[in-house]
Amino acid sequence: MKREKSDALFEKAKTYFPGGVNSPVRAFRSVGGTPLFIERGKGSHIWDADGNEFIDFCGSWGPLILGHANDKVVAAIKKTVEYGSSFGAPTALENELAELILNNNKYIQKLRFVSSGTEAVMSAIRLARGYTKRNKILKFEGCYHGHSDSLLVKAGSGLVTFGNSSSAGVPESFVNETIVVSLNNEAAVKQAFIDFKDQIACVIIEPIPANNGLLLQRKEYLQFLRDICIENKTLLLFDEVISGFRIGFTGAAGYYNIAPDIITYGKIIGGGLPVGMYGASAEIMSNISPEGNVYQAGTLSGNPVAMAAGIAQLTECLKPNFYTELEKKTSTFVTALNDYAVLNRYSFKVFSIGSIFWFAFTDALNVQSAEEIVPESMKYFKVLHKELLERGVYLGPSGYEVGFISEAHTTQTLNSVQRVVMECLDVAMK
Ligand SMILES: *Cc1c(COP(=O)(O)O)cnc(C)c1O
Repeated sequence: MKREKSDALFEKAKTYFPGGVNSPVRAFRSVGGTPLFIERGKGSHIWDADGNEFIDFCGSWGPLILGHANDKVVAAIKKTVEYGSSFGAPTALENELAELILNNNKYIQKLRFVSSGTEAVMSAIRLARGYTKRNKILKFEGCYHGHSDSLLVKAGSGLVTFGNSSSAGVPESFVNETIVVSLNNEAAVKQAFIDFKDQIACVIIEPIPANNGLLLQRKEYLQFLRDICIENKTLLLFDEVISGFRIGFTGAAGYYNIAPDIITYGKIIGGGLPVGMYGASAEIMSNISPEGNVYQAGTLSGNPVAMAAGIAQLTECLKPNFYTELEKKTSTFVTALNDYAVLNRYSFKVFSIGSIFWFAFTDALNVQSAEEIVPESMKYFKVLHKELLERGVYLGPSGYEVGFISEAHTTQTLNSVQRVVMECLDVAMK
């Protein structure tokens, strides 16, 4: 595989950006080597600066559920941008995207558009605190909610702990407002509600945790969170930035039929352009400025070009059988790989839900909390990643990240990738 142009671009990039990148996981550090610089994408394929072609399972980390450069999304972007790219005043496109979402989602009544998942979650937490007039939030180890200060925390060693900052620059006084517990542990959550009675504004969870492996939770556990939040007048916040519009149009809330109090979306909602949103009941949302006293604003919020891309993409998602087809393709792909691993007695399992999958090097039947992921297992992923890349299959460069199947991945493409993955597994596991 030729790497000269990507390598040269990376050398330049290192003189401009810390680590040569504008978001850390792109740097390929956890798999070793250097990043490929991507030149273009179409459908399920991407091409790098050296002309190498790959079948892509990163999909920009989730947003591209229709694949790269989808004709309808591209046409909507072009048509809209001709009329101007931003006004800082309302446009009809904001209404149109809001309608598309709210008419097809019984869990929220009003929403606010922002420009990223991080911003959506940060604002939703401010809303939860403003609404409940409480300060503490409870999060789970292994769930990622963007990089705002109070969420850059990791658990300590106890059952219930204050967060330890996972980043320099986050004051201890901030992380002391964040309680961190393990996923799939009812006792820890109960204890937290005893220790911090009437202090917890919200419990925030990725109902389908997909940023640290794919840690599929039991429905009963999510229902338990729903119930304990009601008992304690705490809001339940589903961070569906990754699962929203991915596991069906209404994400995990719809999949499990559990109604959270606040939901955040991002990624798919913008059709590949920067959009995020948070939504809730009209009553809770009435606390947001200018109606209420929780301040939140954005120069580029509801940007018309991004709205148009989102409308074009979500319109496709709403077509009959869209999600059924995606899930069917994914399940065939995943089952074949799991059968192959069993046949060869490999400590390897693909976990999946909807069109998300995760390659895990484990014998466990379930992996439901961050502590169950064995760090040493990542050495196998590193080999797998390299071998796949050499054979034209692009996965996100970390074994803790999930893969995504898009509408553009055909059954034929997936069959061929399946065989390539088996071949690479033979190399990684021997
Ligand atoms: C990606 C993601 C975020 C952060 O979104 P950005 O657009 O990267 O800021 C937050 N929460 C979840 C669950 C995510 O998957």
